[in-house]
Amino acid sequence: MVEKAALRALPSVDRVLGSPAAAPLIAAHGRAEATAAIRAALAGLRAAGGAEAATAEAAILAGAEDWLAARQASGLRPVFNLTGTVLHTNLGRALLAEAAIEAATTAMREAMALEFDLGTGRRGERDEHLRALLCELTGAEDATAVNNNAAAVLLALNTLGAGREAVVSRGELIEIGGAFRMPDIMARAGVRLVEVGTTNRTHARDYEAALGPETGLILKVHTSNYRIEGFTAAVGGTALAALAKRAGVPLLNDLGSGTLIDLARYGLQREPTVREAVAEGADLVTFSGDKLLGGPQAGFLVGRRDLIAAINRNPMKRALRLDKIRIAALVATLGLYRDPDRLAARLPSLRLLTRPAAEIGAMAGRLAPGLAARLPPGFAVAPCDCRSQIGSGALPLETLPSAGLRVTAPRGRDLEALVAALRALPRPVIGRLQDGALLLDLRCLEDEAGFAANLASLAVPHGLA
Ligand SMILES: *Cc1c(COP(=O)(O)O)cnc(C)c1O
Repeated sequence: MVEKAALRALPSVDRVLGSPAAAPLIAAHGRAEATAAIRAALAGLRAAGGAEAATAEAAILAGAEDWLAARQASGLRPVFNLTGTVLHTNLGRALLAEAAIEAATTAMREAMALEFDLGTGRRGERDEHLRALLCELTGAEDATAVNNNAAAVLLALNTLGAGREAVVSRGELIEIGGAFRMPDIMARAGVRLVEVGTTNRTHARDYEAALGPETGLILKVHTSNYRIEGFTAAVGGTALAALAKRAGVPLLNDLGSGTLIDLARYGLQREPTVREAVAEGADLVTFSGDKLLGGPQAGFLVGRRDLIAAINRNPMKRALRLDKIRIAALVATLGLYRDPDRLAARLPSLRLLTRPAAEIGAMAGRLAPGLAARLPPGFAVAPCDCRSQIGSGALPLETLPSAGLRVTAPRGRDLEALVAALRALPRPVIGRLQDGALLLDLRCLEDEAGFAANLASLAVPHGLA
């Protein structure tokens, strides 16, 4: 009886919408959204058994506000990447340099001379903005760029080898995250895969035996996310280029991450540079824009002029092209490489990769008490040494000395509750579980004050039954 009376007390959508109390809701979100929200809130109250007439309107409007907030909350939000993986694919890989952000912002806001030659007033080429820089930084004759390196490989394979064979070592048939498998990409590119050698050993004679009239190209793939160690043999880039030349077929070298600079200069392990791959004689080299290079998602193809021209004639190129925003960001990012002395200060990914462990450790010491104070009894927080990873399949075996916070909980489910509570923060905090503890690697934390302020909202349920 009571319930029925309460339901009858609920006003209509129109009445709530017309009430003075609803005016701010309409002003903030528009009439259509406010109507949908009030309708949803009424449905919620009806399902819950109604409300006291006196409180009905306020309850409906509060429900409508909640409904709109949930509807507008984007899953695509900034997070604190404390995973210890600097170039984390699931967290968006490289952070862009300020110069790149500025260039991209301008490109978003303004009309740009994207395919317009300001010298002649005629139609221009969007690739022109990148070509000279890429050639200068890699020593290649010509260059182009597409959506990502997966697209670059697909386009190169299709252009050089459609209907023909690509010869590749069994030790290099990679799978990288996100369902990029070399054999599948080959099939989609219309290229027949010819595997040579064995998983651990491939020799020049293996390639030679596979070459024939059907060969479209030789493919070399940088084993970016694994290493084959022990009793191994592979044919180096120079020898493979000579072999390809003798056979009259192009050599495509997919470097994956690739880098434009000698990382040893910054205290990191050496990774083959794009310039070296070009100098070894590869006819085409492909690499990513958002891995070690530190730019936006993109894939580059650099190499022989006639092959780049063929790639640009491939209709697939049009489907894989870059937009003005990314071209602007790439031009700005590549420009920073002209000044290697200041690169580590300007390029966030390199800045984070080269951050001294002592500096990170000092921050761990400062942040530990604040986090400990936010946790229920039984939890413990301790500064610790740890190892960071580069990520995105670059230098898979190299780890960097780092520091962080190690959090232990009374029971496994308490730790899970903490991990969930950190994810529910206004700016979610993403760490990693290691040896029964939560590890927050602070290498990528630059906004220390923001992190501390964010923790004020941390609510970890405790005493879970
Ligand atoms: C990462 C990688 C790719 C794909 O590059 P994306 O930019 O992620 O598309 C291709 N080949 C190799 C060897 C890689 O490491």
